[in-house]
Amino acid sequence: MKILVLNCGSSSLKYQLFDMTNESVLAKGLVERIGIAGSRIKHNRGSEESTVRETDIPDHTSAIKLVLGMMLDAGTGVLGSLDELGAVGHRVVHGGEKNDRSVLVDASVIKDIEDCTYLAPLHNPANLMGIRAMESALPGVPNVAVFDTAFHQTMPPKAYMYGIPYRYYEEDKVRRYSFHGTSHAYVSSRAASLIGRPIESLKLITCHLGNGSSITAVDCGRSVDSSLGMGTTPGVLMGTRCGDMDGSVVLYLMKKEGDVKRVSDILHKESGLLGISGVSSDLRDVEEAAARGDERAKLASDMLCSSVRKYIAGYAAVMGGVDAVVFTAGIGENSDLTRSEATRGLEFMGVRLDESKNRGLRGKEAFISRDDSPVKVLVVPTNEELMIARDTRRLSEKV
Ligand code: ADP
Repeated sequence: MKILVLNCGSSSLKYQLFDMTNESVLAKGLVERIGIAGSRIKHNRGSEESTVRETDIPDHTSAIKLVLGMMLDAGTGVLGSLDELGAVGHRVVHGGEKNDRSVLVDASVIKDIEDCTYLAPLHNPANLMGIRAMESALPGVPNVAVFDTAFHQTMPPKAYMYGIPYRYYEEDKVRRYSFHGTSHAYVSSRAASLIGRPIESLKLITCHLGNGSSITAVDCGRSVDSSLGMGTTPGVLMGTRCGDMDGSVVLYLMKKEGDVKRVSDILHKESGLLGISGVSSDLRDVEEAAARGDERAKLASDMLCSSVRKYIAGYAAVMGGVDAVVFTAGIGENSDLTRSEATRGLEFMGVRLDESKNRGLRGKEAFISRDDSPVKVLVVPTNEELMIARDTRRLSEKV
């Protein structure tokens, strides 16, 4: 069975086509600047060089037609006919409280995604555009929605409630949802396989550290706490987002700037590594500047590592222990400095990093703890698309 996985943003669309007989990626690509001048598609077949085509792409429906055209094209294609496409999996950011697992898309699921738009105003409408465009391009082919929030729906109320009047939860569902659930689910299950124990017997802390970051306590395969919230600014310091923040600071900024949109931009787009260092939101640039002696860049990197360390120790306390800490996403997979600093000082709770295994390790599955470390530390590259493809296959096979 061949499965197409789509991740639609408001002006972009990422895709991967899987052959599920061996879970290989037949083609993948990115459509950029949908509805904006200079739109283009970058398409890769297998490991071949990318094909880039610049063409007018006014909306998501045209973007999807273009992607399907690339899949069939004599030069770039991987499909003899669209009949080979068994199902389409969509990354959907917010599923609210109702969606605690992936689902086959029908009218009621579309309504649920619409109903959650107030919780993810930039993402859910774009995800829906992808679903609708696919329904019109390939009627009859099942669509599956895989929610970023679903994995965290096992969190207990003591982890997801905020300490504000209860009516805000009752009336508006103001609570922690957290995100990157597909990634946490993938790396925790991969880590269990690498450790060689059933996930039902493990306490794991999964650190998804990228431009956006979240840390999750995974107890016996279930998310029991996670660092992102109702929105995407809390938790550890991120590329441009502030991380955990005292409400008083938000009030102060509101008073000073006098405008919700302006303060939202500050907390989402101008804070984090960028806001502290003044150098960049990209950790590579920040680490380089810190190595050259830039004090603020060093502070930004220290703040990131310190916040990760606090979550690791805190989530071990939440679960009453930890068997393994797992690093993933751009920073987790590549920054040996962050992995080393974020686990420094955690020897008291059995975390012993092996610097020789950690140093220089990039983008590969590996144990980076010492053999005698009671708590294992691993790097597991994430693969959200594969998780989406697996769920899509499982659900669409029942159709
Ligand atoms: P997104 O959340 O946008 O998917 P990624 O998971 O791709 O982001 O992570 C991007 C982050 O990973 C950037 O801060 C980037 O600097 C960092 N990163 C990638 N490679 C390295 C590296 N070799 N060393 C340090 N940081 C890295």
